[in-house]
Amino acid sequence: MRYVSTRGSCPPVGFDGALVGGLAPDGGLYVPEEWPEIDVHPSAERYTDVAVEVLAPYVAPAMGRDELRPLVEEAYATFGHPEVCPVRPLGGDLHLLELFWGPTLAFKDVALQLVGRLFDRELARRDERATILVATSGDTGSAAIEACRGRDRLDIVVLHPAGRVSEVQRRQMTTVDEPNVRNVAVDGTFDDCQDLVKAAFADTALRAELQLAAMNSINWGRVMAQVVYYVTSAAAVAPEGPVSFSVPTGNFGNVLAGWVAAQGGLDVDRFVIGSNRNDILARWIDSGVMEMEGVEPSLSPSMDIQVSSNVERYLWELYGRNGAVVAEAMSTLRATGRIDVGEARMARVRSAFSGVRVDDEATLAEIRRVHDETGELVDPHTAVAIAAARAVPSPAGTPRICLATAHAAKFPDAVEAATGIRPLLPPHLADLLEQDERVDHLANDSAALADYLRATAR
Ligand SMILES: *Cc1c(COP(=O)(O)O)cnc(C)c1O
Repeated sequence: MRYVSTRGSCPPVGFDGALVGGLAPDGGLYVPEEWPEIDVHPSAERYTDVAVEVLAPYVAPAMGRDELRPLVEEAYATFGHPEVCPVRPLGGDLHLLELFWGPTLAFKDVALQLVGRLFDRELARRDERATILVATSGDTGSAAIEACRGRDRLDIVVLHPAGRVSEVQRRQMTTVDEPNVRNVAVDGTFDDCQDLVKAAFADTALRAELQLAAMNSINWGRVMAQVVYYVTSAAAVAPEGPVSFSVPTGNFGNVLAGWVAAQGGLDVDRFVIGSNRNDILARWIDSGVMEMEGVEPSLSPSMDIQVSSNVERYLWELYGRNGAVVAEAMSTLRATGRIDVGEARMARVRSAFSGVRVDDEATLAEIRRVHDETGELVDPHTAVAIAAARAVPSPAGTPRICLATAHAAKFPDAVEAATGIRPLLPPHLADLLEQDERVDHLANDSAALADYLRATAR
């Protein structure tokens, strides 16, 4: 497979270039030149077998199935459920796809456990090392640390805003005791952390010296790995027919993977996008105009974002794969805070996607309702997906799959507020609150970060 930039002005690269390069040199995102047909043999019942079949065309010819298989097996052996991403009934035509059985209890493990191993293998092949630099508001940091810990070729430095991540999220990062893992609490906000990361990447001397690399959600490897659970869950609930998906998404990363599965032939009736009060996507589908607003904190913090970066990959297809037009649309968004794709294109958007805004009050009400009706505890992001699904009934009989993106114990305060029950951490994290933390502190200053990175590099 060759990968091209959504902005169309740099040469195609192979899978390895898209993986390690992250962002394309023209500022675009890498997309595969074609959408391979999803052709899963009915006997492929294990998650890892389906994963190898779905992912093989994306990594060829750089990697064959024989090389891919052990990485896939190892990645998903870290999951606490034999089915990896199991589906359970939620009542009526609703189903819950549980994506939180990985080491950090959020769906980001599904992608990052594989991406960390793919990175390590590619760096070994090149005989190089890299320093992964990440800014996090919560879930990404711990998932990236778990993906990198103990890997020879990788160091990881994670910046989080001091005092602004939950205790569980902070401790999942700071209690990891490995020589290649560093946590930095920055005096500032998540946006300040992101700006520091951008400044470090823009410093070409620093970038080359430390071989800085990113594993953020615009990395194609992450999107690709997420395609698999759309295929396995559809096969589990409706092997013959269409399904709908309801996805709690901020960055458009997770739902984009479902749309990619549909491009490959998966029979999907509709994608429902669940937004919290930061509802740029739901407003877009409603009004036809994508318009940035400020970010407000919500009960589902992993979706508190202003711009949905992964939407650029969808716009590329919507604009007929015309990179120049995509580049112009993205620069308009940056300059004016809005894009209008026009009514004809909006009709295509609305034929595939619905958008529903679920505020904090409705999120709590949904957590309570699921607990009353099924006895299960769901996290606030999952509750957004379920409430959004209920708002968009599907044609009679079409099963609807809601994506459960985090374990309830990752957001215990919201779950307790809704149900009066404080969810327990699973056994492998039960002593999280007693372990020692390792964290360095830095001012919000890019020169201080550069000094720190140089001083701590191995
Ligand atoms: C990251 C995250 C999301 C949002 O994912 P997108 O990349 O925006 O689609 C939803 N729920 C949880 C728990 C997350 O960690």
